[in-house]
Amino acid sequence: MILNQAKAVLNLHPSVKQFFLSISFLSMIFELVKLVPPVVFKIILDHAVDPAMATSFAIVFPLIAAYGGSLFLTTLIEVIFTKIAEKRMRNVERSITLGTVEKLLALDVDYHQEHMMGTSMSRVLRGSWKIVDLFYHVMLTLFPAIFQTTFTLIVLFILSWQLGLVFLIFVPIFLFFLVRGAVLTQETRKIYHKNYEKFSGLATQAVANVRTVKDFDNEAFEGKRTKTIYDKYLTALLERIRIGLKNRTFEDGVISVARVLTLILAVQLMLNGTITAGSLVLVVTLSEKAFLNLARVYRVYYQMQDIEQDVHRFNNIHDAPINVQDKPSSKKKITKGTIEFAHVSFRYEENELDALRNVSFTIESRQTVAIVGRSGSGKSTMTKLLLRHFDPNDGTILVDGTSLSDYSFKNLRGSIAVVSQDVELFNDTIAANIAYGITASKKEILRVAKLAHAHEFISKFASGYDTLVGERGVKLSGGQKQRLAIARALLRKPKILIFDEATSSLDAESEKYIHDSIEKLQGKVTLLIIAHRFATIARADRIILLEEGEVKEIGTHDQLLKKKGIFAKLRKLQELGDVD
Ligand code: ADP
Repeated sequence: MILNQAKAVLNLHPSVKQFFLSISFLSMIFELVKLVPPVVFKIILDHAVDPAMATSFAIVFPLIAAYGGSLFLTTLIEVIFTKIAEKRMRNVERSITLGTVEKLLALDVDYHQEHMMGTSMSRVLRGSWKIVDLFYHVMLTLFPAIFQTTFTLIVLFILSWQLGLVFLIFVPIFLFFLVRGAVLTQETRKIYHKNYEKFSGLATQAVANVRTVKDFDNEAFEGKRTKTIYDKYLTALLERIRIGLKNRTFEDGVISVARVLTLILAVQLMLNGTITAGSLVLVVTLSEKAFLNLARVYRVYYQMQDIEQDVHRFNNIHDAPINVQDKPSSKKKITKGTIEFAHVSFRYEENELDALRNVSFTIESRQTVAIVGRSGSGKSTMTKLLLRHFDPNDGTILVDGTSLSDYSFKNLRGSIAVVSQDVELFNDTIAANIAYGITASKKEILRVAKLAHAHEFISKFASGYDTLVGERGVKLSGGQKQRLAIARALLRKPKILIFDEATSSLDAESEKYIHDSIEKLQGKVTLLIIAHRFATIARADRIILLEEGEVKEIGTHDQLLKKKGIFAKLRKLQELGDVD
């Protein structure tokens, strides 16, 4: 268990291994240096108390000077050691934290759908600071304890094998109790970590959806939910502390017995002349320190067990596979914007039915194609596949005759823009939200905002384009957000533009604005209009009708009406007011 955990920590980042190697080396040197003052003190004492040595101050003085010097040297080396270690550790922390955020963003949409946002963030934050905490303890307690124990053992054996033996026998007994504590608390640790993550996920979710929580007067409901989980966490934590404290009495007991036995033995050895008085003091000083440090090891050890779960969860992020792979080296660019679906089938992982089944069609460059069908028929899934948020299970999707997987994400997603029903905005200015991630001049931003009919409402704000939109755009209406999303898409000069249910939740005026933008774009880029309101799509060059993931009809509006098939039937139903 402890080995797996150590391996997990070391594998977090290449810099971690380097950090531990260099720190263990420095720590060893430091512990060796720390041996010098007590050894010099022993020599001084032996000179001072032994009349046979005919001690004169002239002999002892240089020894005292050496003692003072060694004390100063120890402090100096400690300062240098801490400085180097701190700097390295902070760099490791930086690599781990930034690396994890990078990995989180690289993970498929799939991953994020399965993991609550708060849970992921709790893993990153808790994981990284707990790991840094662990490093501190390893650096300041564990390594020194390991080296100190080893050196003490060597010195004790040099002075007297009996002393060495006592020490050697007690260290494993102590370690036995230490590991026993870990085994006894394993289950409760798992429980409290799991519940803490759950709590964190629920709390974040409640705050993120605060408007819905309030709309339904569900503050108390959310409060109760989080409290139940938090209490489960707390109960397990307290149980872990209880078991840990009980075990600690055994660990401390072992150490106390060992200290007393060492002292009895050392005094006896001195009395029978095996060791000198100086050696007695050295033995007592070194073994006391070593035992005390061993006692401190339990704290690090318990912390390591706590961290085990954090590291494990943190590592889950690092180990999570990225199913949709980028091809960053590809220089292929989309120039025309033709789309071909060839026998494409796709199923979401946990579903039993295909979201798309054997879908085939082609769309020429600059054509406007509407994709219609009842909700759940697979329309949005097509967008997700086109943007490679998922890869199809079967068949291929080609753009400009090249398979999507042969484009780099940058070139693919740089040429396909989506305006969807749920517009995601960032807590920044309107201008920054339109530009999002690219540098654009004010003139350019103004141009696209006008095209998207966003300029009308932006210019009414006192701060215009510098107006802050609030977190996730809470200060804007649905229609306004939608128009910003169109401006954002247009700024990227896409070859393919997808409107995914962009108008379904808008008022008549906003819808008109968006239709106007769509009309202006017709014939200029390949337009894919996903809609379940049939009125939206009359002007499309072609209509693809999906039902239960299959293409059932393809043709112009008139052709499909004349066919008197599913399209005609659905259209009629909608005219009668039955939307789906
Ligand atoms: P539409 O856009 O036509 O309303 P979707 O493409 O969103 O339909 O959904 C097609 C099918 O896939 C539906 O049965 C839906 O429940 C399912 N589905 C959509 N998104 C997911 C998802 N993220 N995970 C699992 N199933 C999904």
